[in-house]
Amino acid sequence: MFSCWLSRLYWALSKPTGRTKPLIWGFLSRSLVLSSQRRIPELSSFVARTNTCGELRSSHLGQEVTLCGWIQYRRQNIFLILRDFNGLVQVVIPQDESAASVKKILCEAPVESVVQVSGIVISRPPGQENPKMPTGEIEIKVKTAKLLNSCKKLPFEIKDFVKKTEALRLQYRYLDLRSSQMQYNLRLRSQMVMKMREYLCNLHGFVDVETPTLFKRTPGGAKEFVIPSREPGKFYSLPQSPQQFKQLLMVGGLDRYFQVARCYRDEGSRPDRQPEFTQIDIEMSFVDQTGIQSLIEGLVQYSWPNDKDPVVVPFPSMTFAEALASYGTDKPDTRFGMKIVDISDVFRNTEVRFLQDALSKPQGTVKAICIPEGAKYLKRKDIESIRKSAADRFKQEVLPVFLKASRKWNSPVAKLIMEEQGLRLIRLLEVQEEDVVLLTAGEHEKACSSLGMLRLECADLLEAEGVVLRDPALFSFLWVVDFPLFLPKEENPKELESAHHPFTAPHPSDVRLLYTEPQKVRSQHYDLVLNGSEIGGGSIRIHDAELQRYILATILKEDVDLLSHLLQALDCGAPPHGGIALGLDRLMCLITGAPSIRDVIAFPKSFRGHDLMSNAPDSIPPEELKPYHIQVSWPTDPEAEKSSLNHPCHPES
Ligand code: ASP
Repeated sequence: MFSCWLSRLYWALSKPTGRTKPLIWGFLSRSLVLSSQRRIPELSSFVARTNTCGELRSSHLGQEVTLCGWIQYRRQNIFLILRDFNGLVQVVIPQDESAASVKKILCEAPVESVVQVSGIVISRPPGQENPKMPTGEIEIKVKTAKLLNSCKKLPFEIKDFVKKTEALRLQYRYLDLRSSQMQYNLRLRSQMVMKMREYLCNLHGFVDVETPTLFKRTPGGAKEFVIPSREPGKFYSLPQSPQQFKQLLMVGGLDRYFQVARCYRDEGSRPDRQPEFTQIDIEMSFVDQTGIQSLIEGLVQYSWPNDKDPVVVPFPSMTFAEALASYGTDKPDTRFGMKIVDISDVFRNTEVRFLQDALSKPQGTVKAICIPEGAKYLKRKDIESIRKSAADRFKQEVLPVFLKASRKWNSPVAKLIMEEQGLRLIRLLEVQEEDVVLLTAGEHEKACSSLGMLRLECADLLEAEGVVLRDPALFSFLWVVDFPLFLPKEENPKELESAHHPFTAPHPSDVRLLYTEPQKVRSQHYDLVLNGSEIGGGSIRIHDAELQRYILATILKEDVDLLSHLLQALDCGAPPHGGIALGLDRLMCLITGAPSIRDVIAFPKSFRGHDLMSNAPDSIPPEELKPYHIQVSWPTDPEAEKSSLNHPCHPES
């Protein structure tokens, strides 16, 4: 079992760096500790050991060492594998009578017990070296052993190949953290944050400022968590981001601010969301959009892990309009093609009814994507599920068009597509044999959004068949710029809301439209996208109090009093300023290839926002609520309430 576990780990190590998910203890120590730009940290200072388990090599032969760690495994009561954060080492259990007490301790202590051993580093006998183990040339000849704590209960084995449900991992998070993957993720996160601090503070003069977590309600934007206060009817809110504070710091002359900031949004969890999450939050005075973009490119490049392919800067940039038209989303995954193509002109004289109907409308378009080798890999049921997704999510009809090897159209609409249209389609979409074209028609945004979703669904389906479309070792950064400043409100499309937040400055060339056609104004907002996920966003801010008041009161119809402090500040000599926030959890999740952001957070919440280990949130006795002047109004049907909170995909639900 031991060798099987090891071989799995070492198999991962043996692949070229940057092309695998690193899982290895030895690898951990090498890639995380050794860096040309940093001193090698002293890992055994101040503590009851002389060395770490994972660091011992032939160069330590003959040294007397004291190690502390967890019993990973025992073999025939002769060998014991000791583990600490830095790796594994083989300890030889003494067999002679004189060391009976040492043998007893090491043979009787259950797996995962904590022991301290002292002994000499010796060579393994010839032929018994383990080349797959970083410490595989040596072993420890033990002289003394101490049981520091016996492990009495283990809800699951601490072995990477033992599958556990996520709910169990979250319930016993302190044990889950012992896994090599969690160790790797958290240590890499720590190292990247350290590099970011170095880059921002030491190389560029940023000031790390902590801002409050007890704040007040912010108009618009995300739903905030509410905290009761002892004043009747008065509540704090947990900030969705330090946005107002960082702008106020610019008014206060701090000039360059950053913070590893905890943010809170009461919006329910999704695989890439948590009710509390961490941002690398940045603000600068006297900066423009290109200044912020260059700063971030340098920051990502500087803090990028050594074991990945280096990041190439500057990152490419795309307007929001282009992103929507070509990828059907504002966060395109640019690792692969399958771009959306407008084929309206091909079908001006069509007999296909739904295309005809769409094109007869003023905003009507026909769009398509070409799925490479789709005819080979997609099954009939896949096509049906693709069509169903488009119908369910976007009420869009989608037609598959197959181009068989014989170049005969074979689909419900094939007969109706004239030869000349077929040829134009082949040219426009660069259709190859065995490709499938997905066609849809309708208003531009809706047609693009639905094909954007299908593009990703098809990529999943093709990858499930073994086609590599999105190379996991590829990190494809992209700036998306020129967003609209406002969007129609979902519940009342006649009213406008901020596309991002109300402090975003309008695009300089669109300012006059604010007073005539605000829905057409572009913003000075920019998003940073990585492999199809938004990992950051920011903007140049409004620093003119009049303009800010106009947008809040007249366009957004917000209560200006809630922001009177900010408006006053803008009137007191606010410098032009702008900033950005990077989502640290998402960034780490993408870098480590983790399935969820919960895998890069030490103590995450479940889908329902619960801490499964401690059971937070928890109830409070009524008398403890009294000082806050609040009472619980219990739901009349607690079961219905519970199921409305449940999420179908989560183990907890
Ligand atoms: N505060 C913004 C956010 O959290 C980021 C920014 O505009 O700097 O999305």
